[in-house]
Amino acid sequence: MIVLGSTGSIGVNTLYIAHKNNIAIEALSCGKNIKLLNEQIAKFKPKFVCIQDFKDKKLVNHNKIFVAQEGLKEMISQCKSSLVVNAIVGFAGLNSSLMAQKLGKNLALANKESLVVAGKFFDTSKIMPIDSEHAALKCLIEKRKNIKKLFITASGGAFYKYKIKDLKDVTLKQALKHPNWSMGAKITIDSASMCNKLFEIIEAYHLYGFTNIDALIEKKSLVHALCEFKDGGISAYFSHANMRLSIAQAILKNHNKTYIQTLDLIKMQNLKFEKISLKKYPIFTLKDELLKNPDLGVIINSANEYMVYKFLEEKVGFLDIAKGIFKALDHFGVPKINDIEDVFEYNAQVKLYLDGR
Ligand code: NAD
Ligand code: MG
Repeated sequence: MIVLGSTGSIGVNTLYIAHKNNIAIEALSCGKNIKLLNEQIAKFKPKFVCIQDFKDKKLVNHNKIFVAQEGLKEMISQCKSSLVVNAIVGFAGLNSSLMAQKLGKNLALANKESLVVAGKFFDTSKIMPIDSEHAALKCLIEKRKNIKKLFITASGGAFYKYKIKDLKDVTLKQALKHPNWSMGAKITIDSASMCNKLFEIIEAYHLYGFTNIDALIEKKSLVHALCEFKDGGISAYFSHANMRLSIAQAILKNHNKTYIQTLDLIKMQNLKFEKISLKKYPIFTLKDELLKNPDLGVIINSANEYMVYKFLEEKVGFLDIAKGIFKALDHFGVPKINDIEDVFEYNAQVKLYLDGR
């Protein structure tokens, strides 16, 4: 298979599962972590690799190196593998998802941003989600009728215990401390702001076609999704917070091995579901509007990405992330997205606008 974003949190865990199952790796890609890429090249011996910057080419221990977005597309098209795991973070993952589907390959998708910005351009029946809530939803709704409503859960992120008035002074270090999950920096910030849950709502819409969907806080991240039926019953999906389960479910055909500990139900006490506070997590107020106008996804994602990277560089405060998203939405309104080129165009325009250009 092809593993894109192999040096990240999902990429590393994907290679762990691949190794345990003797799955050959045809191609790897990463952004800038060339040291880890070289270790992965030595272990998995891929035929091709792709990196983000030309200047790093001489550091890579390989003789078939592709570079940047064009390189990713070219590399995927030269591969024979039928499975692509896309674990690139952000808008930078979109081209690879599109190329994988264009070539008729199976797409195991961690890069939820692909669906947030361009869900309507994908055949989602051929996508296996690598996202714990969506893997859980799949298990809950498969072959079921009479579904009334779906729920996904949120941990509340790094600031679950903080008072709203204290959020204006929080630091980057505090925002990067996720209570339950060990993930890349961008998604950890998205979890603290609840933007990740907004994205997951629209991800679920594109994957499963339901609009009656909401999110609840379950701060231990032991319940990942719930399905309410018309007869009044509700089923829930439990597991430890460990992405290896979702990855195995997405990439293995007859998946029956255990990569994570089974939950000890007796130890699982004080399980509680809470409403998401819209005062504390203002980005989540966009849920209904986004479900009504999924094309807004490109504006929200681009603004969020721009602001989160500014926050990661400590150039703006945590609350500025939401402000940037609302500012971009006020300016651009509902975008007119007729073809995929429009998605790329709006993405660029939103970033230029927030940059004051
Ligand atoms: P990460 O930051 O740990 O890894 C990102 C990977 O993408 C790295 O290999 C990096 O080198 C590469 N990359 C970054 N910028 C790039 C660019 N411009 N071009 C090419 N490659 C680039 O992130 P992660 O936590 O592994 O998340 C990856 C994706 O999976 C995200 O879309 C995230 O939302 C999603 N996801 C992650 C988790 C999780 O538990 N980490 C759970 C669900 C979904
Ligand atoms: Mg998730």
